[in-house]
Amino acid sequence: MPHPITSALISWYAAKARNLPWRASKNPYFIWLSEVILQQTRVDQGLKYYHHFTENYPTVLHLAQASEDQVLRSWQGLGYYSRARNLHAAAKQIASSHQGQFPSSYDEIRKLKGVGDYTAAAVASIAFSLPYPAVDGNVNRVISRLFCVDQDPLSTTGKARIKALSAELLNVERPGTYNQAMMELGATVCKPRNPDCLNCPLNAFCEAYRTGKTAEFPLKKTKAKEQTLYMLYVLPEDADGKTWLRRRSEKGIWQGLYEFPLIPLAGPVNPENLRVQADLENLFPQTALLQLRLSEEYLHLLTHRRLHIRFLHCKLAALPESADYQAVELRYLSEFALPRAITRYLEEHPLA
Ligand code: SF4
Repeated sequence: MPHPITSALISWYAAKARNLPWRASKNPYFIWLSEVILQQTRVDQGLKYYHHFTENYPTVLHLAQASEDQVLRSWQGLGYYSRARNLHAAAKQIASSHQGQFPSSYDEIRKLKGVGDYTAAAVASIAFSLPYPAVDGNVNRVISRLFCVDQDPLSTTGKARIKALSAELLNVERPGTYNQAMMELGATVCKPRNPDCLNCPLNAFCEAYRTGKTAEFPLKKTKAKEQTLYMLYVLPEDADGKTWLRRRSEKGIWQGLYEFPLIPLAGPVNPENLRVQADLENLFPQTALLQLRLSEEYLHLLTHRRLHIRFLHCKLAALPESADYQAVELRYLSEFALPRAITRYLEEHPLA
């Protein structure tokens, strides 16, 4: 017999689940795609990308055969590009080590690049009905509140406790439905702020609701220190309508994306006193800059970083030779995967 919490949850899900395209599918590739896209992305935003990927890369082999640039371009606007790079690498792994067949055991799915415990459990349970509880932020919240878990769900002991409670509730006959129902409840009812406890199917079982402590759970972790960076992107434009791009090879969130020459700054820029003359001379030796236009500041927030970015648009007669940058016609800029911070600027200041 399923746990009474589980029965109540699954009945509620049968009546209230949102109609989302990947829920109509048992195709492990589509389910995996949806899980990766929806990490750190809202459903309404992710839907468009899900359709794009399933139409443009209808099988995992199509994805494996695409170039990394194509995949990053398809991902443009979703942010957290490491997800796209991992998605692509895992598709190649499936093509080379599994003859293009999506692996069907938890352990094999877990070995795919970028796949952690949560995604492996979600795909294994939904596509293959394997009994693994999938624990994401939504599930952490619901379980923490249901049982007033007095540990940070991201700590080692908190994680183990929530996983054990989830395993106890898991409906082993319908693990995929259970996992989706738990996540759906967290996303639509047991929300971070103002959970809709009155309409929650689990309110009769919920310790936090009973004791009026929903706002206290899940226990908050201490916030990582935020770093503030000031940056100047230089956008050269020559008389032939060409600019410079380079592909970022440095590890990090923008690895593999293209960017203009970048000058890190020590602090906020004073437009009247822009101290980057030496940097510009290094970039464009013996080249007269004909016109300079400094943008307003763009604030771009990453997980633990606040980027204050300005753009300096420079006109010059001809771009010098460069080993670091490739000359690209401005009209082809949209064919390159660029960080969101740059595309925002280009949307507001089209160059071509
Ligand atoms: S009763 Fe409220 S706090 Fe408890 S699970 Fe439901 S929505 Fe969350």
